[in-house]
Amino acid sequence: MNYIKKHGYLYLSTKRFFVSLLCILLVFHSIPSGITSGSFLEFTGSMLVIVTFCILLCIPEYLYSKKSSEDLWIKWIECHSAQKQQDRLKRALVYHELIPLKIDTAARCGKFASQTSKKRYRTTLRSCTCPDFKKRKLPCKHMYYLADQCNLHIPNSINTL
Ligand SMILES: [Zn+2]
Repeated sequence: MNYIKKHGYLYLSTKRFFVSLLCILLVFHSIPSGITSGSFLEFTGSMLVIVTFCILLCIPEYLYSKKSSEDLWIKWIECHSAQKQQDRLKRALVYHELIPLKIDTAARCGKFASQTSKKRYRTTLRSCTCPDFKKRKLPCKHMYYLADQCNLHIPNSINTL
């Protein structure tokens, strides 16, 4: 189980990471040009826009890191008893039909490899980038696996069946 880590640091999705990186590069690019052009207002204005954009991008990740696992998982409390959800639960915890690459139980996020393609899925207790979650907006097998690793109680889980 060497893929299970407990770093607890805030990690951004790839998209957010690259947008943030782009913002940082823009800031550093605008500093010399702002100083040389002498237009202080224009320079400060563009800096403010970039910094605000950066903060807005990081807010959802920050809020996620501040909430307890139970608070994050409670959103799904109503749906676990449905047969389709129980099937997903079994696929995750009984048949182990998934390939975990990295599980961070402190940050409550994980990375899984697709079983059918070379894709990688980023999973949190709130969402997953896999096609199943994108389509149904209900916990997928990756999310159940992550929840189990975070010691969350899943009602009607395989233990009580
Ligand atoms: Zn998933």
